[in-house]
Amino acid sequence: MSRTWIIVTEEKPVAALAAAARALGKTVAAVVVGPRALADAAALAGPDEVTWIDAGQDRGVEAFAAPVAGLIAGDAPKAVLAGASPESRVLAGRVAATMSASLVPGVLSLSMAEDRIVMDRSGLDGRVIETLEAAGPVVAIYAGDDIPAATERSGAGAAVTPLVAEGVADIVIEKTEPAAGADAGITKAQVVVSVGRGLRKKEDLSIIRDLASAVGGEIGCSMPVADDLGWVEKDRYVGRSGQHIAPRLYIAVGIQGAPQHLEGIRGARIVVGINNDPEAPIFKASDYGIVGDLYEVVPALLTALCN
Ligand SMILES: Cc1cc2nc3c(=O)[nH]c(=O)nc-3n(C[C@H](O)[C@H](O)[C@H](O)COP(=O)(O)OP(=O)(O)OC[C@H]3O[C@@H](n4cnc5c(N)ncnc54)[C@H](O)[C@@H]3O)c2cc1C
Repeated sequence: MSRTWIIVTEEKPVAALAAAARALGKTVAAVVVGPRALADAAALAGPDEVTWIDAGQDRGVEAFAAPVAGLIAGDAPKAVLAGASPESRVLAGRVAATMSASLVPGVLSLSMAEDRIVMDRSGLDGRVIETLEAAGPVVAIYAGDDIPAATERSGAGAAVTPLVAEGVADIVIEKTEPAAGADAGITKAQVVVSVGRGLRKKEDLSIIRDLASAVGGEIGCSMPVADDLGWVEKDRYVGRSGQHIAPRLYIAVGIQGAPQHLEGIRGARIVVGINNDPEAPIFKASDYGIVGDLYEVVPALLTALCN
């Protein structure tokens, strides 16, 4: 296989994407949509070639879906990798459609076996790993571990070739304003009280808010509480694909402690788990564990804290 393409819209996953792509082909080509600084950073993180599309100030990356798809499809690669950010996924979808390629989400690792692409991907909310094999072409949304870019940085890096994009969609960002809750400061908070799917209904968030306020903390949550249920703002969910936080105290209420969630609290100093399942993985990551029904434990804590 010759070139494997990676789609870059942010710096964080570039080194990991480049390393994963390297396992598939000799040459790793990156298309970067964003500012020049992003292209320069990407060039130092592993790819052999970087094509840079300047996204300008007033356009979102979705405006560049057609030129990105045209560029990559014109090269007819067997595999394309994109990070899991919403922007990268938008571009990946268009690339897959243009190439009539299979779009595979949640890919953790890739390799070649004979002439086929082998992918491990996470399924059932992280509870199983599926191994897929495909002849290609494939567009993989890569959700594997990040590799710190610094470990890859050596020499001058890849040359950056600017591309004047044609077929840019007429869609502009008219204004940008902070969203309600965007200054929540969960990443800076000293104390975070996080809630998971152990909570039965949205109205019951009031007891979690009371606990957060009693300990002087911010509210956080697991991914499904924000993403699936929409009970808490999305910028408050903690984990691999959410916020990475380092509070002095993290209280996880009704959260199982999935590996993806725990990735977000590696920097927490003291973790307290509250769960009615004594086998819940959160307890392995906790300094203090309370086995019990949150609907009894939280009110009891409130009584103790407020009296
Ligand atoms: C690629 C990928 C990325 C992901 N990224 C993230 C991420 O960034 N952040 C994240 O959080 N997740 C992430 N996930 C999802 C993750 O795998 C879990 O599915 C999720 O964290 C589970 O959320 P939960 O613990 O709230 O819910 P559940 O798994 O449903 O757990 C609920 C817990 O509450 C307990 N419980 C139930 N009732 C009570 C009660 N009355 N009192 C006390 N305890 C009770 C249960 O015993 C259980 O342990 C990701 C998954 C994938 C595949």
